[in-house]
Amino acid sequence: MKNLFGLTLPELEAELSDLPKFRAKQIAEWIYQRGANSFDAMTNLSKNLRAELNQRYEISKPRQIKIQNSADKLTTKFLLGFSDGAAVETVLMRHDYGNSVCISTQVGCNMGCKFCASTLNGLARNLTAAEMLGEIIFVNDFLREKSGKVDTVVIMGTGEPLTNFDNLLAMLKILHEDYTLGLSYRKITISTCGIVPAIYRLIDEKIPVTLSISLHAPNDILRSELMPINSAFPLDEVLKAGEDFAQVTGRRVTYEYILIGGVNDTEEHARQLAKILAGQLCNVNLIPINPVDERNFKRPTHNAIQKFFHFLNTHGINATIRKEFGAGIDAACGQLRNSWINR
Ligand code: SAH
Repeated sequence: MKNLFGLTLPELEAELSDLPKFRAKQIAEWIYQRGANSFDAMTNLSKNLRAELNQRYEISKPRQIKIQNSADKLTTKFLLGFSDGAAVETVLMRHDYGNSVCISTQVGCNMGCKFCASTLNGLARNLTAAEMLGEIIFVNDFLREKSGKVDTVVIMGTGEPLTNFDNLLAMLKILHEDYTLGLSYRKITISTCGIVPAIYRLIDEKIPVTLSISLHAPNDILRSELMPINSAFPLDEVLKAGEDFAQVTGRRVTYEYILIGGVNDTEEHARQLAKILAGQLCNVNLIPINPVDERNFKRPTHNAIQKFFHFLNTHGINATIRKEFGAGIDAACGQLRNSWINR
């Protein structure tokens, strides 16, 4: 049976061309805004029409395999499954400025970053645009039951979004439409390990999302050790792309920097980082590492975090320390899925 979930309004109109046009709009709103999982819920369609649509189509959204809440109830992590049995993590974070959903873009990841749990089992496949949209709509449906909604989206879960570019772009466009969540591009953050040509594609598409670049090291030697992708796209190219993105969009780029005890957290590292970012329209987001069982990295000391933070802010770089969400619930990306795979 053909799945209608993930179709744009023009695609729905074409699919349902035997019906009056306004029906497609009604159905889109039921699917994307009103939580319908089947045609039976669509009470403004006649019974006959619902029965007929039930014969021809399905509305296939991801299904919840697991759910975990943090002790403070601010974070909810979902393991969501798709029709082929693949599963990904999606995280809801309740900030004081609204509800944020962090979505995965791939089933697993093949970027091979040394500190990351998502890449331990390699890449199974890309997610489709409909599947990524499904993660967001799933959480929006979950929130609607308590009169809430998704306010911001961060594309920072498992996977490298910019190696799944076409699907990502299709998803962003549909998410922006008023028959879905009508989300402004400014409320969407994309995090990348630095796929330089794809950053330029994003610039060309004139989609003013917030760009977040995972830097994690202030020189090529260390960065290549931690992130193999650095051999393909070295620091100077990544930084140039970040600068160009900021220049063209007028939007400040965020550089993410995981602090790993004894690896990249000394004053010398902070000095190098301040130097390579000097003059850029950017922020640095410092992230004390979430230790991953399979990885041998330690959290930095409290003192090292504070000193690094202070150094940047007194040397012309605007830095923040990431507020930690979800401690105690397999918080590092990929840990919930890995524990499920390993069982
Ligand atoms: N591939 C994209 C998006 C997924 S990773 C990227 O690299 O940005 C999202 C963020 O989580 C990245 O900044 C990544 O480096 C970070 N991350 C990965 N493992 C982590 C860990 N163990 N502790 C803290 N942050 C981690």
